[in-house]
Amino acid sequence: MSLVELHAIHKSFGALEVLKGIDLSIDEGQVIALIGKSGSGKSTLLRTINGLEAIDDGVIMVDGKKISERDTDLLALRLQVGMVFQQFNLFPHYTALENVMLSPQVVKKQSKAEAREIAEEMLAKVGLADKMMHYPDQLSGGQQQRVAIARALAMKPKVLLCDEVTSALDPELVNEVLAVVRQLAEEGMTLVMVTHEMRFAREVCDKLVFMHQGRIHETGDPEEVFSNPKTPELSSFVGGLA
Ligand code: ADP
Ligand code: MG
Repeated sequence: MSLVELHAIHKSFGALEVLKGIDLSIDEGQVIALIGKSGSGKSTLLRTINGLEAIDDGVIMVDGKKISERDTDLLALRLQVGMVFQQFNLFPHYTALENVMLSPQVVKKQSKAEAREIAEEMLAKVGLADKMMHYPDQLSGGQQQRVAIARALAMKPKVLLCDEVTSALDPELVNEVLAVVRQLAEEGMTLVMVTHEMRFAREVCDKLVFMHQGRIHETGDPEEVFSNPKTPELSSFVGGLA
């Protein structure tokens, strides 16, 4: 069984059906790139996986446990599924260290000492050992996003969902964040990444998922899918990026 399994996921906002029957399995250690035009349902799909968005129909299993609307233990789910967003959403009045220490203490009831040890470890992992006492406004966008990644990692998630984590960054800051994600991938972290960085998708990801109008339109090995798109929609999407 895969770590995450989605079966026939449907989701509408009012009359707008945004997810029209999504089937996707995510194996442990797998790195998936989720691509597609704006509005195709990528963010909504990620948000269903960690329970930020309730689904109308279908089944989501995380680590063998069924997540349904009625008996979802959202807290337990969110402990296993980490998420990083385009906007870093750090608390401005907390240092980098305090930002990373917060959830483990509040949600996991870790002691301050325990939370601090893990936070220091995760900030070092993302290359910010020397910036732990800085406040967000003393950090660059790339550094803030790395704090946000450390914050997600401090919860020791089984899978990490990244939604356009480099899209809000100045171009020169993109690579330092991608390098951190690449390192996580190499260490065996299970990752689902919505990204426009096609070179990164090719080099780092095991599987490419192309969404179009609420459906998985094409999927497969990134290299193969990119070099031989089978649908005009993917051809045009890839062409538009070139
Ligand atoms: P993507 O991430 O691929 O750009 P989204 O999942 O954000 O796509 O959005 C898919 C569609 O759902 C869009 O048409 C968007 O406007 C709509 N949508 C997303 N969230 C909401 C919401 N909370 N309420 C109403 N419509 C929404
Ligand atoms: Mg989105």
